[in-house]
Amino acid sequence: MIEVKNITKKYGSFTALDDISFTINDGEVVGFLGPNGAGKSTTMNIITGFIEQTEGHVLVNGFDTVKKAKKSKGEIGYMPENVPLYVDLTVKEFVNYMAELRKVNRKVKKERVQKVLKETGLDVMQNKLIKNLSRGQKQRVSLAGTLVADPKILILDEPTVGLDPKQITEIRSLIKDLGKKHTVILSSHILSEVSQICDRVIIINKGKIVAIDTPDNLEKKVSTNNVIYVTVEDNEQKVETLKNKIPGVIDINLIKTNEDGTKQFEIKGQDDVNLNKVVFSEFAKENIVILEMKKLDATLEDAFMKIIKEGGTK
Ligand code: ADP
Ligand code: MG
Repeated sequence: MIEVKNITKKYGSFTALDDISFTINDGEVVGFLGPNGAGKSTTMNIITGFIEQTEGHVLVNGFDTVKKAKKSKGEIGYMPENVPLYVDLTVKEFVNYMAELRKVNRKVKKERVQKVLKETGLDVMQNKLIKNLSRGQKQRVSLAGTLVADPKILILDEPTVGLDPKQITEIRSLIKDLGKKHTVILSSHILSEVSQICDRVIIINKGKIVAIDTPDNLEKKVSTNNVIYVTVEDNEQKVETLKNKIPGVIDINLIKTNEDGTKQFEIKGQDDVNLNKVVFSEFAKENIVILEMKKLDATLEDAFMKIIKEGGTK
C-alpha cells in the first residue's frame, strides 16, 4: 500500500505539488493523468524517494520514504521518464548488472535474469548490444532492469512516450500482465491510454488532484454526447432562463467565467438535435451575443474543465 499524505513540493518559490493526498492499494494499477508540467514525475520521484517533499509524508508498505528510505526504496521498481541505459552492454549484461545493483541473491540471480528476459520478450535478443535495439525494445530492457529485483511495486513514468503504435500496444499489454502480480503506477498524458490499462485514474493538474476515479466513471463524465460549448457576454441569468425554452436542449450549465467577464456554458441536447442551429437562433432572438461556439471532443482539456467545474470527485 502507498499512502501519500498532504504532500507539497516547492522548487524555490514555485509550488509544483500543492497538498496532494491519495492511497494506492496492493494489486492496483493506477494511472497518473495530466498535461506536461502537471506534477506527475515530481509525485513519482517523491514516492520513490529520489527527491524529498517540502511538506507531508509518504508511506510505502508502511515505510516512511524519508525516515526509512532504504526500506521503502526496496519495495519499488522505478522506471524514470528518460530511460537511462548503458548502451555498450548487451541486454543480458545490463539486466544482470541491474540485478547486482539491486542486490539480488547470487544463487537465484541467473534464474531471475532469464525469467525477466522471457517475461519482457527479450530472451531472443539477450546477446544484442543495447545500442542496436529499437526504441520499443530499449523500453523493454529498461523494464526488465526494473523487474529483476522482483519489486512489489512498479512505478513507470510515461512508459509509452516516443514509441510507435505497435510498440505502444506491446508495452501496454506487458504492463497489463505485470499488473496481475504487482502494484503498478504509471503516468501518461493520454486519457485513452490510462483508461485501457488502469483500474483507477488520478488526474493531476497544476500540482493538484482534480479527480480520482475509475476509467469508466471518468469516461462517462467526458463522454462525447450531443454537447456544445458556447461563450457569451455576461448574460448568466438570461441564459439560465433559456434552459427550458429551447426545443431539444436538455441542460445548460455555466462552465467558467473568463478573465474578461465573458462566460462559457455547456449545452446538452437530445441526440437528434442540431444544437449549433437551435442555440444560434434562440440566442439571437434573446439578443445574446455568441462569441464562440464549439463542439465537445473529449480532449484532456475539456475533461479537466468539466471535472474541475464539478468540484472534483475525491
Ligand atoms: P509532469 O511530469 O507532469 O510533466 P513534473 O513533475 O516534471 O511534471 O513538473 C511539475 C512542475 O515542476 C513543472 O512546472 C516543472 O517545470 C517544475 N519542476 C520540475 N522539476 C523541477 C526542478 N528540479 N526545478 C524547478 N522546477 C521544476
Ligand atoms: Mg513527467
